[in-house]
Amino acid sequence: MSGNNGRLVTSQGQGTTPTVGASCYGNESLVNPSTPSKHLKSPKPQNAITIAVSSRVLFNMDQEQQIYERDGMEVYVRYQTEHETEPFSPGPAFPFVKALEAVNTRLRQLYPESEELFDVVLMTNNHAHVGLRLINTINHHQLFIERFCMTGGNSLVGYLKAYHTDLYLSADPTKVRVALEQGIAAATMFNPPEGRTEVSETQLRVAFDGDAVLFSDESERVFKAHGLDKFFEHEKAHEDTLLGHGPLKGFLGSLGKLQKKFYDKGQRMDCPIRTYLVTSRSAASSGTRALKTLRSWGLETDEALFLAGAPKGPMLEKIRPHIFFDDQMFHVEGAAQLGTVAAHVPYGVAQTPAQN
Ligand SMILES: [Mg+2]
Repeated sequence: MSGNNGRLVTSQGQGTTPTVGASCYGNESLVNPSTPSKHLKSPKPQNAITIAVSSRVLFNMDQEQQIYERDGMEVYVRYQTEHETEPFSPGPAFPFVKALEAVNTRLRQLYPESEELFDVVLMTNNHAHVGLRLINTINHHQLFIERFCMTGGNSLVGYLKAYHTDLYLSADPTKVRVALEQGIAAATMFNPPEGRTEVSETQLRVAFDGDAVLFSDESERVFKAHGLDKFFEHEKAHEDTLLGHGPLKGFLGSLGKLQKKFYDKGQRMDCPIRTYLVTSRSAASSGTRALKTLRSWGLETDEALFLAGAPKGPMLEKIRPHIFFDDQMFHVEGAAQLGTVAAHVPYGVAQTPAQN
């Protein structure tokens, strides 16, 4: 559905439509008993690393969206009902979610009793009838998603908070902004790029921009106002001043927490999570401040790539991340053009109305 798919919302709590609170958690009754997920237990939200994804970024629903826009809701719902047994094809977040599940498999082998796992919650505004097609799709692709939330109405942040959400991915930039304003890490995803780069099925790779993503936008402001050269000078002069927190700092911390569980079992070299800092900063003049800040937080990325203003797309093409986060659409588009799934973090000074 489009950014205003709230128009399709049915009343909360109606029929099989989950509502916030206990009834929204672990809706096993909604899931086909044949699903493999029945054999696994969902962790409690407060213990898990919760990733909330909208149905439109997990699956490709473009054709249905066009039907809705062209023919209206009645035709749309009828179409979805008539095609209930046809699974949706994967959307931009699909390989990322599959990689989360691959990490969970490894964690369950090492720590059978631990609830420190990724937990994926599917967020959707769709009509309950469409929900059945979504559940069939989840089963078809053998995804382990038991938390399935028809958000309805305007209570998105309430749901995200109830789930202790660590990251929210949506196709709707307005919802992403609302989440960010409430301190929830969030990013907008777009249709997968043409010729998407193939990604690992066994190792989750996540790439982050620095300024206005992991860090606050204070240095980005200098760049915006005075250009890259002045930015480099400014950062050199302030290399011992730590940067503030950015919106995705907490998510990097969550990944680090899970990485440590592998390191503790002697699996540092074979860790199924790998993180990257991919920044326009240059190593010599402005990288120090970034690295000192990460160190002060007790965080690190496995690799730090200082591109000194060079395009990020070619480097990302080599890294092959499942997702790359940046606050500037320029970099998101540049990454996508070379096949990387890039998500936009609409945070900080780089945002203008035209940039979403
Ligand atoms: Mg930035």
